[in-house]
Amino acid sequence: MAKKQFAVIGMGRFGSSVAKALSNLGFEVLAIDANEQRTQEVANMVTHAVSADTTDEDALRALGIRNFDVVVVAIGADIQASILTTLILKDLGVPKLIVKAQSELHGKVLSKIGADKVIYPERDMGLRVAHHLISPNILDF
Ligand code: ATP
Repeated sequence: MAKKQFAVIGMGRFGSSVAKALSNLGFEVLAIDANEQRTQEVANMVTHAVSADTTDEDALRALGIRNFDVVVVAIGADIQASILTTLILKDLGVPKLIVKAQSELHGKVLSKIGADKVIYPERDMGLRVAHHLISPNILDF
């Protein structure tokens, strides 16, 4: 069976970390960011890195985005760009869409427009840390 192909949109701290980790695990990763400098910073660590505004449907089509098995949307601060990107990806038929949310309300909108999984990195990490702190294996933390 062919290895899954991933695209990650938004090379902030979260997106670039996901893209690099997947690449280190041996998967094909397309990294996309509207900011050329951000794209350049990860270019050596992923399969392909391109600059594109993902609120532009034609740009996403041209990248063949629907052929990727999983697309991660890691745009946080610009909620409008996050929502528009998610909507377009859903319309284009991306099989699995994972989207980072900035707030509960943002996440709710993302779920309603078809995100398969919504991630709240800061909230989820906070929960993990709290659970680790109270676990009997605290020395492993
Ligand atoms: P982190 O906390 O992971 O660093 P952040 O929420 O602070 O993320 P943002 O500023 O939201 O980061 O953006 C993440 C990346 O998404 C930025 O590098 C930004 O250039 C990119 N980005 C924002 N809008 C678009 C867009 N329309 N198309 C493509 N990339 C975009």
